[in-house]
Amino acid sequence: MRKIKIFVFILLIALFFISFSNPQKLTQKTVIILSFDGIRWDFVENVKGFSQIEKEGFRAKKMKSVFPSLTFPAHASIATGTFPKKHGIVSSVFLDKKSGKRFSDGKEAEWLLVPPIWVIAEKKGLKSAVCAWPLSEGSYKGVYPAFYKPYEQNLKDREIEEWVLNLIRAEKRPDLIMAWFHGADFAGHRFGPESIEYRECVIRSGEILESIINEIKRRGLQKDILLIATSDHGMTEVKREIDIASKIPKRAFYPFIAISGPVANIYVENANQYRLFKERSGLFKKDFLFFEKVEIPFEYSTGDNSRTGDFLAICNLGDVFKPYKKEREGILKGMHGYPPSVPDMCGIFFAWGKGVEKKMIEEACLVDICPTALKFLGINDFTNIDGKPLF
Ligand SMILES: [Zn+2]
Repeated sequence: MRKIKIFVFILLIALFFISFSNPQKLTQKTVIILSFDGIRWDFVENVKGFSQIEKEGFRAKKMKSVFPSLTFPAHASIATGTFPKKHGIVSSVFLDKKSGKRFSDGKEAEWLLVPPIWVIAEKKGLKSAVCAWPLSEGSYKGVYPAFYKPYEQNLKDREIEEWVLNLIRAEKRPDLIMAWFHGADFAGHRFGPESIEYRECVIRSGEILESIINEIKRRGLQKDILLIATSDHGMTEVKREIDIASKIPKRAFYPFIAISGPVANIYVENANQYRLFKERSGLFKKDFLFFEKVEIPFEYSTGDNSRTGDFLAICNLGDVFKPYKKEREGILKGMHGYPPSVPDMCGIFFAWGKGVEKKMIEEACLVDICPTALKFLGINDFTNIDGKPLF
């Protein structure tokens, strides 16, 4: 009897140390989320890597973006599973009237109003690794990803690919790996979506995906890893530039005009300025959509908060606003940011690996990616998340 008691005691001590010394090993699973910025849904047919997943895994034919379909709001939606009115990244450039702070392609996670997936994972004792993801720099309320590679101007897609491959090969693989590849978006802006350069970047993205799939297969890890390949938005040809600033009388700081491609949030200083804009709205509306904040339709709403402009202007498809006070670097041939209901704004979504059955659905939304990954990691609290798991 005494021997049994001693044995049980030793067993309990051993279990205590195993569970507390290595909490992340509650799971051996890893989810990898790769964002290939700016790849449009209809450009991946018969492209290596993507077509391989289509044969073996899950594909949503169109990945619906959010409004505005711009890199920073869209990546915040992928990372948090919420729409911009909840995560607070209302555009790629905006003013927070409450704090007076200006956001312009900001990198810091502290701009987010809800936690990104790497923070949710870390708080559950899992390990995350993040590379160059927009809005991933620094801490979110004191929590950082365990492994981090920041965005740098000269960071090449092939270096990011190597970073992902090394993590797959690592003895202690992180539970969550996220990486942002920006090559296709860059080519889309500079040369347009119908260009050879854009198509070549899409093919190169497929090669990156293929090399990551092959590495997972070579190591027999497809029973442990869920691989997600997505993009944040599509791309359309630019036809015309509109100089909105020339239509707006400006005194000192206000009205503040925050332009991001086809979207402009306009912030006014006082009731007089507000009335002036309201009177002119009829004139504006012949060239672009123009709304008072209180009358923004649901489809374009980024919330009644201190970040959405007092007025919102949206170009028709193919038009963009001229940058305010600065010249554009090079010619702009392709753009995004238009409403997500426009087919050209739809991106891609592919999933392959553990727990994924071969399936094709017509459409998914960016906010579904975070809950899909969380469910895979065994985290099933979606209380503050707008999307739903895709499988
Ligand atoms: Zn983008």
